[in-house]
Amino acid sequence: MIEFKNVSKWYGSFQVLTDCTTKVSKGEVVVICGPSGSGKSTLIKTANALEPFQKGEIWIDGVSVGAPDTNLPKLRSRIGMVFQHFELFPHLSVMRNLALAQVKVLGRNEDEALERGRKLLERVGLTGHTDKYPGQLSGGQQQRVAIARALAMDPLAMLFDEPTSALDPEMVNEVLDVMVDLAKEGMTMMVVTHEMGFAKKVADRVVFMDAGFIVEDCSKDDFFDHPEARSERAKFFLSKIL
Ligand code: ADP
Ligand code: MG
Repeated sequence: MIEFKNVSKWYGSFQVLTDCTTKVSKGEVVVICGPSGSGKSTLIKTANALEPFQKGEIWIDGVSVGAPDTNLPKLRSRIGMVFQHFELFPHLSVMRNLALAQVKVLGRNEDEALERGRKLLERVGLTGHTDKYPGQLSGGQQQRVAIARALAMDPLAMLFDEPTSALDPEMVNEVLDVMVDLAKEGMTMMVVTHEMGFAKKVADRVVFMDAGFIVEDCSKDDFFDHPEARSERAKFFLSKIL
């Protein structure tokens, strides 16, 4: 579903990604972890064409992200993206946040969009909040709205960039629970997170990045249960966060 082939990227003269190769198959959940500044956010932004890359190839469901004739707005509309800071439209109600792109981008009629919005709010446990504004919700609630908004576009895959790291601790689980459900329903997911409990529960694979390199790309069981086979850098990282 998502394939990175020897992707390299520079910011000016600074190489932020070096020869990154990995993939996420349909229905797979891949957790990306690694120290701050290692290139995790940049990697997932290149997948959504939010950041250009200079070398290699990225394929999304058979479409080449870097090809000049690729319809990037269409491609982006099929990839759900959830960021650390919820990035809801502050001046729109919860339901308008959910409906906007369904109507404007997918061309759904208003009734369809509202119906889909209601179902998704129920799914993320926020029935009854439709007319509130983002500022009236807790961080955990806003992040669940952001997930629902992404799902409303019927994405091929969902990309998450540290979705719980800006939340107060008591709100982390309400967001992770929604993500665990999504994973169990078979959503294709690429998740940058330091929540190793989440990784242990639902990840199929773990990718560990350091200084722009993919240092490890292995099954969850290999990553967590066979530390002797891990790189020194991954072991050091795990010793700090587990
Ligand atoms: P991570 O998500 O793993 O913390 P990032 O992908 O955000 O890492 O950043 C990787 C490196 O690229 C860091 O050294 C960061 O300072 C640098 N970087 C990120 N965005 C930019 C940018 N727009 N311009 C220049 N350097 C950047
Ligand atoms: Mg980041």
